Amino acid sequence: MISPTPPVFPPAITQGAASADPAIVLVCEHASNALPDAFGTLGLSETERQAHVAWDPGALGVAQALQRLLRGDLVAGTVSRLLYDCNRPPEAESAYPDRSEVFDIPGNRDLSAEAKAARVAAIYQPFGNAVDRVMKVRGQGVLVTVHSFTPVYHGQPRSFEIGVLHDDDSRLADLMLQDWPADAPLRAERNVPYGPEDGVTHTLRKHGIAKGWPNVMLEIRNDLIATQAQQQAVARLIADRLRAALLQLKVNSDD
Ligand SMILES: [Zn+2]
Repeated sequence: MISPTPPVFPPAITQGAASADPAIVLVCEHASNALPDAFGTLGLSETERQAHVAWDPGALGVAQALQRLLRGDLVAGTVSRLLYDCNRPPEAESAYPDRSEVFDIPGNRDLSAEAKAARVAAIYQPFGNAVDRVMKVRGQGVLVTVHSFTPVYHGQPRSFEIGVLHDDDSRLADLMLQDWPADAPLRAERNVPYGPEDGVTHTLRKHGIAKGWPNVMLEIRNDLIATQAQQQAVARLIADRLRAALLQLKVNSDD
């Protein structure tokens, strides 16, 4: 018996018409809360499917605005991270969480190796291939991943506003943080609400550090980017800080 071709859910790619200098590749792994029919609902209610555990609310709007402002390229996930978290390697249990914050994910309980492999082939591999392809076209540049976090986690309010996260390569994060204006409308802090020790820098390592591209992960508190106007305002603030950092960063081509 021939098994049916497994469905593939590639990310959405938006390429800047003109290349910024240096090229800026934006990645939004948790852009979507979609659960395609092929995978069912994972046993989640509609309310749970809208919650932050399924995706990063507001992150895609900020990433899209940054793409336009910076003339960058954007690779954005098109399915929920509860099916496969593209910011985690296939061997991590958290790539297919059966519990996230206060939510149980029944459809991920006791997932077989075969079911995991199917999700890797359908979601993680096409995602990584797309990022590889976009970066290859640009040749050299910087990698910026865009995320949002929930203002209340396990009942505890979080006061952080914007997290600037890095792994071993802190070049871009250092420049952004050292020049963040004291009077900026939002505060930025290093490696909050998570850091590399929490396993959140997979994309930075796999695509940024491995290819020698300076890289940074941005985490924005999702109540600050709930509306389109807020998303645009935060994108403008971040775009200004990124541009200033890039002026000081030697990436490229002519050395
Ligand atoms: Zn995220």
